[in-house]
Amino acid sequence: MLDCKITQGTVYDGLGGPPTVADVGVKDGKIAAVGSLGDVPAREILPAEGLCVCPGFIDVHSHTDDWYFLNPWAVSKLLQGVTTEIIGNCGDSAAPLAAFKSVRTADGSEFRWRTTGEFMAAVQSHGLGINAASLIGHGNLRSIAVGEESGRADRNHLQAMKRLLRRSLADGALGLSTGLVYPPGCFADTVELTALGVTLLPAGGIYTSHIRDEGDRLTESVREVIELCRATGVTGVVSHHKAAGRKNWGKTATTLRLLAAARADGLRIFCDVYPYTALNTGLGTLLPLWSHSGGRAAMLERLDASQTLPEIRREVEEKAAGDYANIIITKLKAPEHRELQGRSLAEIAARLGLSPSEAVIALLRTNAGEVDMIWHALAEEDLQAVLAAPFAMIGSDAGARVSYGPLAAELPHPRSYGTFPRVIARYVRELGLLSLAEAIRKMTSLPAQVFGLANRGRLTSGCAADITIFDFAAICDTATYANPFQQPAGVLHVLVNGVPAVWDGKLQYRAAGRFLRRRHWR
Ligand SMILES: [Zn+2]
Repeated sequence: MLDCKITQGTVYDGLGGPPTVADVGVKDGKIAAVGSLGDVPAREILPAEGLCVCPGFIDVHSHTDDWYFLNPWAVSKLLQGVTTEIIGNCGDSAAPLAAFKSVRTADGSEFRWRTTGEFMAAVQSHGLGINAASLIGHGNLRSIAVGEESGRADRNHLQAMKRLLRRSLADGALGLSTGLVYPPGCFADTVELTALGVTLLPAGGIYTSHIRDEGDRLTESVREVIELCRATGVTGVVSHHKAAGRKNWGKTATTLRLLAAARADGLRIFCDVYPYTALNTGLGTLLPLWSHSGGRAAMLERLDASQTLPEIRREVEEKAAGDYANIIITKLKAPEHRELQGRSLAEIAARLGLSPSEAVIALLRTNAGEVDMIWHALAEEDLQAVLAAPFAMIGSDAGARVSYGPLAAELPHPRSYGTFPRVIARYVRELGLLSLAEAIRKMTSLPAQVFGLANRGRLTSGCAADITIFDFAAICDTATYANPFQQPAGVLHVLVNGVPAVWDGKLQYRAAGRFLRRRHWR
């Protein structure tokens, strides 16, 4: 007796080959059989004639982190057909921490953690609607071992970081992520990163990197990842690969060639990408790196100091390169600035009667440094070149959102709701850049292989029953920059570990997700 039988769907196994019309049987959270299951009895029968049945999507680049306590169903991800998120990206993870962090949830329960293992246990005991797995932020390690100051890590610092990394890997983390434009990760040199890479290898950990520079020094920054992989033997991933800024458009031709050549040399190196031409990050990334030394309070002080401010403004102007009309401010906390959210820096500067670089400083100052932007800084040609690369996976670069509560207070990037349907609608169905089987492979078996998610990402018997069922003719992202909280169309049913998470396009609020620990797969 099967728990569920999905009948006569067009089945993509996730490995990239052509689909077959088949039944899929689910039992005890696993795929029991794929084939002709006509006589096999099942508790529930789901007719899927004319629909695509494939492994649940794996979002390799998520920032949901401790938002699971605000959004345990990972609403914007489940609605897209994502069944596993990899969190802890860009050098920043929910754990480990220097001191205990505690959150109180809506029902009054309290959750505390400091180590990676404690965080995983807290998320699981709160209830999880999606599978999650975590990288360890290099920024966390540096912050605990070295502090927020710039400067090289000494021997003792390095030993402490390695110890923390080993402990987190033993707790079940997938590997290390770096965020080399964000403090304090940006203060690390290649020697420090390579030393940590050496620690990853015996534990089978992976190295992912938000590289040092995605614009003027893009090529050198990609080279740094390649050289780290060459020196250490670890598997590497260039996060959200892109060429930012008009004068750097076209550079992905070079970087993709470098990555392909490294792979031809035998290195295990990959990248991920989101299907949009706007990036989304903190406004503070426009400031010089040195201005972040010592942490946020020190940075805010420098914005007020007459010795440092002119140099900071010069760098803001250089980095923004006059593109203020294309930089949209999406998160402001100060009440007097709330109505500026959603407007461009050019517009905000005019309203405040300031120059654009003065407006950047004013916004950061008034909002205690917590300002986010969406910057329309990428070219469609680069995006398509990266998407088409056979070693590119799909990552939203977004945390899971929900349209109420604290996560709805900002104007998020539409990628939080739209990434996976958009790849299929726009780049498979409309533009024919990828075949559907290849797009699904990039969303399922490829990430499962790269990140070591055994028994996930494939639709074959014995694998976990993470299954997404969608209508190829109808699937479409509907979230926009102006209206980002929009459920995509055409994603009909989503099973997480065999349990309906989305049924007939409706969220089921079932806590069927698991925090995937690396030791469980080996
Ligand atoms: Zn990043």
